[in-house]
Amino acid sequence: MSQIRIAIVGGGLAGLATAAALCRIGTEAEVFEQSPALGEIGAGVNVSPQAINALRAIGLGDKIAAVANIAPGVLTRDMNTGAPLHYRDQTAAAARFGAGPHSFHRADLLQALASGVDPRSIHLDHRLIGLEERTACVELAFANGSRHEADLVIGADGIHSSVRHVLYGDDNPTYTGQMVWRALLPGGEIPADVLEPSGHVQWLGRGRHFFAYYLRGRDVVNIVTQEDTDKWVEEGWSIPGNPDDMRASFPNPEPLLATLLNRVGQCSKWGLFMRPLTDDWGRGRVALIGDAAHAMLPNAGQGASQSFEDAYILARWLAAERNDPIQALRNFRRIRIPRVHAVQRRSAAIVRAKHDYQQKSEKAAPAAVDAVDSMAWIWGYDVTAEWDKPPLVPVG
Ligand SMILES: Cc1cc2nc3c(=O)[nH]c(=O)nc-3n(C[C@H](O)[C@H](O)[C@H](O)COP(=O)(O)OP(=O)(O)OC[C@H]3O[C@@H](n4cnc5c(N)ncnc54)[C@H](O)[C@@H]3O)c2cc1C
Repeated sequence: MSQIRIAIVGGGLAGLATAAALCRIGTEAEVFEQSPALGEIGAGVNVSPQAINALRAIGLGDKIAAVANIAPGVLTRDMNTGAPLHYRDQTAAAARFGAGPHSFHRADLLQALASGVDPRSIHLDHRLIGLEERTACVELAFANGSRHEADLVIGADGIHSSVRHVLYGDDNPTYTGQMVWRALLPGGEIPADVLEPSGHVQWLGRGRHFFAYYLRGRDVVNIVTQEDTDKWVEEGWSIPGNPDDMRASFPNPEPLLATLLNRVGQCSKWGLFMRPLTDDWGRGRVALIGDAAHAMLPNAGQGASQSFEDAYILARWLAAERNDPIQALRNFRRIRIPRVHAVQRRSAAIVRAKHDYQQKSEKAAPAAVDAVDSMAWIWGYDVTAEWDKPPLVPVG
């Protein structure tokens, strides 16, 4: 068959990784992004070993290495006493899995992904407002008045996906009862002992946790927290928060945590939303990937990482089934859904283990819930060997 016409809706982490993966197999895709410029909000994102290996297989290894921080480990402390609870040795993990967890400023990661795509194929200011599935093609309509015809459409337009909405109606995500504070601080203003020994620290407290880690070498400290709350919080990267409210969320902080909290001059807040696990990842000529298919709680650090697995595996199936791309999408779903559902379940379990920790007598267990051994089935997954095999997932 002649070159297949693929349209990707959404130029975020999932959409650009997929465009780069398709380039790698010699298939150009057109990317339609609603924003007037490619950009991610100033915040950090951790990408786990198997997803780093997927990005390397897509050909982006050098580009991502140039903008990543690779912390040798993560220290977990009690939020109120400062007592060390656990140290996750990520240097050993890197040796075991071929890559360690990488931390990025989101804007740097997005640019690295975009470098794998012909800039002429990225169409900014294109907000999808309509999609019509026909027998032989799909027609897309954009808010700027333009239209586009494609053989396949990949909906990578995030948790509030318009593509998803056309296919499945109002299966809107609901508030999880979890909210997040985020802040970036200048690294040079933070005393070095706060994030010792590895530059990446997690504090656990009752019903909440708090992460801080360096980005861009030691230039920036990224803070991201999570807490149980029945107060409804809006979702969005740029909902401004009040730093005093943020401080009040962490009563009686131990001194190192207090040092960090006292320096927060600006922050944003974010309500976490999810929809129940679903097999509705597209049909016919339309595929959903990334948060459009499988938004998840961020506790396993897997939302973006699963998108990068999606990107590689989708491209491999399209390369393998060049004469039957609709079958390629079916195969993609067959391989991906069981694994991603297991990851979604694990993300939900991790938050409970951490947030209920101070109520339990066994203090070490919650910190170990995302220890290297517990994460091995996620981090040790090799997309290049497993892309066409039903995944092994933990029972229960
Ligand atoms: C607090 C928090 C911390 C997180 N930390 C991590 C982490 O450490 N590691 C990790 O792996 N994951 C993490 N995640 C999850 C991760 O951020 C998401 O899974 C990831 O961003 C999903 O990428 P995406 O491309 O599917 O969606 P998005 O990043 O939402 O991108 C969607 C894109 O589609 C565009 N778009 C939307 N609608 C339209 C339309 N109608 N037309 C055209 N374009 C459109 C948007 O502008 C956007 O560019 C975290 C999430 C949260 C909330």
